[in-house]
Amino acid sequence: MATTTESKFIYRFEEGDATMRDLLGGKGAGLAEMTRLGLPVPPGFTITTAACREYYQRGRQVPEGFWEEVREYLADLERKTGKKLGDPNNPLLVSVRSGAKFSMPGMMDTILNLGLNDETVKGLARLTNDERFAYDAYRRFLQMFGKVVLGVNAERYEEAIERAKQKTGAKSDAELPAAALKELVEEFKAITRREAGREVPQDAWEQLKAAILAVFESWNNPRAVTYRTFNRIPHDLGTAVNVVAMVFGNMGPDSGSGVAFTRDPATGEKVLYGEYLPNAQGEDVVAGIRTPLKIAQLKEQQPELYAQLAEIAERLERHYRDAQDIEFTVERGKLYILQTRAAKRTGPAAVKMAVDMVHEGLITQEEALRRVSAGDIVQLLLPRFVPAARERAEAEGRRIAKGLAASPGAASGKVVFDADRAVELADRGERVILVRPETNPDDVHGIIKAVGVLTSRGGITSHAAVVTRGLGKPCIVGAGEIAVDPEARRFTVDGRVVQEGDVISIDGGTGDVFLGEIEAVQQKLTDSPELMQLLSWADAVRRLEVWANADYPADAAQALAHGAQGIGLCRTEHMFFETDRLPHMQEMLIVAPEAARLASADPATQAASPAWQRYQEALARLEAFQTADFTGILETMAGKPVIIRLLDAPLHEFLKPREEALEREIEQLRAAGAPVDAIAEKEQELHRVQRLHEANPMLGHRGCRVGITFPGLYEMQARAITTAAIALKKRGVDARPEIMIPLVSHANELRVLRDRLVPLVEGMIREAGVDLRVPFGTMIETPRAALTAGEVAEVAEFFSFGSNDLTQMTFAFSRDDAEEKFLADYLEQGILPANPFAELDRDGVGRLIRLATEEGRRTRPNLSVGICGEHGGDPASVVFCHHAGLNYVSCSPFRVPVARLAAAQAALGLSERDV
Ligand code: PEP
Ligand code: MG
Repeated sequence: MATTTESKFIYRFEEGDATMRDLLGGKGAGLAEMTRLGLPVPPGFTITTAACREYYQRGRQVPEGFWEEVREYLADLERKTGKKLGDPNNPLLVSVRSGAKFSMPGMMDTILNLGLNDETVKGLARLTNDERFAYDAYRRFLQMFGKVVLGVNAERYEEAIERAKQKTGAKSDAELPAAALKELVEEFKAITRREAGREVPQDAWEQLKAAILAVFESWNNPRAVTYRTFNRIPHDLGTAVNVVAMVFGNMGPDSGSGVAFTRDPATGEKVLYGEYLPNAQGEDVVAGIRTPLKIAQLKEQQPELYAQLAEIAERLERHYRDAQDIEFTVERGKLYILQTRAAKRTGPAAVKMAVDMVHEGLITQEEALRRVSAGDIVQLLLPRFVPAARERAEAEGRRIAKGLAASPGAASGKVVFDADRAVELADRGERVILVRPETNPDDVHGIIKAVGVLTSRGGITSHAAVVTRGLGKPCIVGAGEIAVDPEARRFTVDGRVVQEGDVISIDGGTGDVFLGEIEAVQQKLTDSPELMQLLSWADAVRRLEVWANADYPADAAQALAHGAQGIGLCRTEHMFFETDRLPHMQEMLIVAPEAARLASADPATQAASPAWQRYQEALARLEAFQTADFTGILETMAGKPVIIRLLDAPLHEFLKPREEALEREIEQLRAAGAPVDAIAEKEQELHRVQRLHEANPMLGHRGCRVGITFPGLYEMQARAITTAAIALKKRGVDARPEIMIPLVSHANELRVLRDRLVPLVEGMIREAGVDLRVPFGTMIETPRAALTAGEVAEVAEFFSFGSNDLTQMTFAFSRDDAEEKFLADYLEQGILPANPFAELDRDGVGRLIRLATEEGRRTRPNLSVGICGEHGGDPASVVFCHHAGLNYVSCSPFRVPVARLAAAQAALGLSERDV
């Protein structure tokens, strides 16, 4: 037997253990560990991932001496089982199973019953005294080998089985008699000959060699490659191959196959959970040919078997100190364990299992924190459909479409096709779902009032997706099967027409769209004592603070309930989109260019200008609204910082509805033969709107550029903030506003604004005689601001990375265009490892963040630095922010618990890949 490490490509199960996943793959390491524990595992050996890597490195050639090594281990297996591969009198049959380091369920290939041929099948029939069983095993082998090794289309075999069933009147495969199976064997051989031009070898050793190579090859089948790209599993790891003595679950009523979980993978409850199918091979359980028994039924029907399984399950869970997913087979009353692995689980189950295991003394608090995937805990906070109600809807055929799961949660409501109608119905107390081809900022007032959003276009960071995630509302985007016709107020899908007012239900966690209502429940943090417990452990270890982005008092209250330590971004432009404010905003913008020209004129000239008057009146109205808005949010957040960002939005977004309205009015006036003057007045107004058009609004007149050029606008906002804070202070409320300037690229922009705003704020505070300080800071969302952070920090008291814009500007990708047009291709081709708008691009954008943080702090050592782009709620990005030394991350209220856990995981040393 080869013993030197270089030439050792094979390990008997007795030789390995759980630590050898890299080399033996997950399945091989599990089989080895269970063998060590003395559990009933069929004997076998594992060909290492190193052998697979060698195979590829040598241009698809096995290393020298490889087949000799396989022969030696096979001989050992034959000794152990007392059977021989290819021996007609006592044939050894084996399974040849793939198994990589990381689980890739169903992506690679496996061949069962290998070793059967025209002679050994007779031996098997004699030995088992069951001809039907033997020929059924043989036809299964021919089918799998033909498909996996020789590339025959599996449909051909299935068609032959269907014909055989019709001929014999058998209702299922299991009812096919031995004679029919014998005929099928011959037919399968003919199919393989015809389709592949080759035959399944009769020589069992040749079968084994071909099967091992086919498993190596399956590492690179397109399914597996796509799966790895999607799950970011490296492509050069290779798969191990497990050669295991067959045990049969289909040898009669005292045999069977099953799957058992040591805890319920959906709820986390500590009960043995799973399914068992008597007289069946493992693949039959998966294929759902017959309805399996619940494990609980097994307890009643075969108490001894159940007791043995339960004992092994308990042992495995204690040994691995984690919930296990166990595959087992019973051959004529004897239980065999074929696989064990950490059980996949839902978010709620993960939280419950982790906390319960701490209480059971199985794991430490730290391990519990490491184990729960931070992104999964949003599942515990959003509304969800009652499972039975959802199943009923599926059974009734009410699922009509599937799109991209853009924002989780579940909702039912009446369909509406425009934002105004959404507001109208919602104000009447209706629950509405806004359905659009896609959304834009004009729709925000409707999105706020809707219980969910469905769009037929757009990607996972399209406008609808981003806004709804922020609001914690369910959203499905890119549901291409539905054709939305907003004019006709209906959508069609698969020949069905859904009209305004019809009820649909959407599951933003899966992307499923249903007709009709499905009962849902709203979940709260306090509904899950386990999650509260886990997060309290997280708070004790994390260094990074977690703040929230909130524009309204209700969002802020939600953020507080989820544990937010401050508001990192209050976007004031959202307030201007509300229906009662938008006209004043439009009014102000329309005359702003004229007001700008008069900014430095003397007061008499200004007073004489009607445009100036209009501008000032509009500003005054807006100031009243803003003061009330800020009062609400500052009061809700009393005692905690609230960073209010001054206006930042492409101006055309505010003006588009006005422009369309004016065009319609002019048309109507013309059609009605209205006086020329009346038409000219409207035309002048339209011209004023059109002069605000920009060639490239994303890079145009936005952010602080507007604040600098439009007189008094930012002053109005600063005054509203200060007025609100002073009034609260006088009422004994600890208001802590901070002023933040958007889209700065040069320190001088900030200097100009500081000199205009800070004395104004300080003057008001002095006059009021209250104890208040309003820090003045900036967003860092352009590369130039990041690169000159040292100078910017001379003016700014704090930085907040606007990583949405910073990503756009660093890549020079317009986010909406990128998502709609090419980002999917980039991800598929592996050009980018992840969507940079969802997960921070560490090498580019991340480098700017690190540099700006360092240089900013060099100028101002106590500079507070946070992030308020969407990345603030993404676990991997949170880990990055921890390592980059930020003070806090700010994210949507619904993601605050996610960020709390991810921040703790970062503090515990988990890497960005591990969270
Ligand atoms: C950002 O750019 O990251 C940001 C928070 O600002 P907005 O998304 O409003 O542009
Ligand atoms: Mg921005």
